[in-house]
Amino acid sequence: MKKINTKYVFVTGGVLSSLGKGIAASSIGALLEASGLKVTIQKFDPYINVDPGTMNPIQHGEVYVTDDGAETDLDLGHYERFISRGMTRKNNSTTGKIYHSVITKERKGDYLGGTVQVIPHITNEIKSEFLALSNDYDVIICEIGGTVGDIESLPFLEALRQFRYDIGKDNVIYIHLTLVPYIKTSDELKTKPTQHSVRKLREIGIQPDILLCRTEKPIPIALKEKISLFCDVKKEAVITARDVGTIYEVPLALNEEGLDGIIIDLLKLKISNKKPDLSRWKNIIKKIKHPTSETTIAIVGKYINLQDSYKSLHEALVHGGIANNSRVLINWVDSEKIGKEGPERFLNSVNGILVPGGFGERGIEGKIKAVTYARENKIPFLGICLGMQCSVIEYSRNVAGLAKANSSEVDPHIKHPVIDLLPDQNGISYKGGTMRLGAWPCQLKKKTLAYAAYKKREISERHRHRYEFNNKFRLQLEETGLTISGVSPDGNLVEIIEIPNHPWFVAVQFHPEFKSTPIIPHPLFKDFIHASLKKSRLEEKELFSMESGSAVDKMEKIILEKL
Ligand code: GLN
Repeated sequence: MKKINTKYVFVTGGVLSSLGKGIAASSIGALLEASGLKVTIQKFDPYINVDPGTMNPIQHGEVYVTDDGAETDLDLGHYERFISRGMTRKNNSTTGKIYHSVITKERKGDYLGGTVQVIPHITNEIKSEFLALSNDYDVIICEIGGTVGDIESLPFLEALRQFRYDIGKDNVIYIHLTLVPYIKTSDELKTKPTQHSVRKLREIGIQPDILLCRTEKPIPIALKEKISLFCDVKKEAVITARDVGTIYEVPLALNEEGLDGIIIDLLKLKISNKKPDLSRWKNIIKKIKHPTSETTIAIVGKYINLQDSYKSLHEALVHGGIANNSRVLINWVDSEKIGKEGPERFLNSVNGILVPGGFGERGIEGKIKAVTYARENKIPFLGICLGMQCSVIEYSRNVAGLAKANSSEVDPHIKHPVIDLLPDQNGISYKGGTMRLGAWPCQLKKKTLAYAAYKKREISERHRHRYEFNNKFRLQLEETGLTISGVSPDGNLVEIIEIPNHPWFVAVQFHPEFKSTPIIPHPLFKDFIHASLKKSRLEEKELFSMESGSAVDKMEKIILEKL
């Protein structure tokens, strides 16, 4: 048996996908951390891509970038928002990554003379990934992607079955997330899908210790007893995972069900806090549930048919709201529609406009029109990555007089490539992991909106792009009023631009949304929401004075008529 000082919690999912395994794993992390334990979370995805970096966000959702430049599953974003430890490339593995490593070893001759097989070679590789972060943490939570019963997740499940044997019974627990559907017509909660899903797990030798039962209605004791009997899980360990108003309430809801206490007991964990300190989470919930103001932000995107494509962005706006005691309503606007029909109809009632990142030509002209609308109508604006590139194009065309400005991503032969490939990106043909990725330092200029937000000179933010601001046009754009408020330490890469004489116009080449958490909202989102609230208050005032003006007019008319 291997001797290690880390305990493992494996989280699997059953019945159907999208039950919120990522949020469940994150919430368990938050609860154990609140008990004083050092925790991290790993995600194992059964698909064959080495990482999600080459996938369309409409298929797979957002690609989340870590400080060390890994392109990872969006669940890692949840992990970073719920626990304090940062994620690295070791926190996400896929079938592709595992096989890539095994095949590379085979070619090197590491298994010389042997037949390389799923068991033990692939399962051993998976187990070495489980161990990659051990001893640095008290507890590692491993979320297994996919649904039990899928062919492709079998090697992972086999590996985690073996793992308990390898490191000892007291060091590993299995938590299974299932669905207990509510049938409206008969007013009943049904347990059969859970029974079948657990049977599937037991067929491969895994007996769950805890069941998280996702449900619309609280599960009565009698039903918990039934599930307990059929699934061979203690009745206290049959946990109601009820639907809640905001994801940040899940740790509190699971704590009410006693989940953290059960995990701590099963793993015989020694904890310093007898009761977890959940005050920070309670505070966040209070702010989300009782806002004192409201603002509407338009996200002008090209992947809006799947909102998971902008997961971190959505959360960062919620965090900006928390920082301002405000509810943030989001209008998802399709940039292609703005391209065809113009911006007025979609943007005339919003308090702030956000143009996010993206790839390729589709929808670009609509995004540029949205930038013009924000600039000319003085609507608070935040541009991110492609959104920043569109802002530079817009400014070049409409203010700096470079009518043929564009990004060479859209048109490689354009006359004014204000956004262009850096020389080190020329000739790269491999698509996986070859962009400017991960954390890069940036220096801010004093007396700018960026400096006012961050309140420091040196910052670090995460990137994921190939194209950059083209320095050939820098002087010309600055001379026509564009402010460059953030650059790389050597001064060569433009990271932030601003437009003066505007209430709040900031566009950044990096992705600030990846570093925002409900506990520490990102300064740019905080200030963006603040500016949008100011705009809505101003409008209210104007409306009020207009209304009272018209009342005075009416009065005057009546008096005149009477005379
Ligand atoms: N397509 C742009 C580039 O590669 C922007 C990428 C992004 O928005 N993440 O530079």
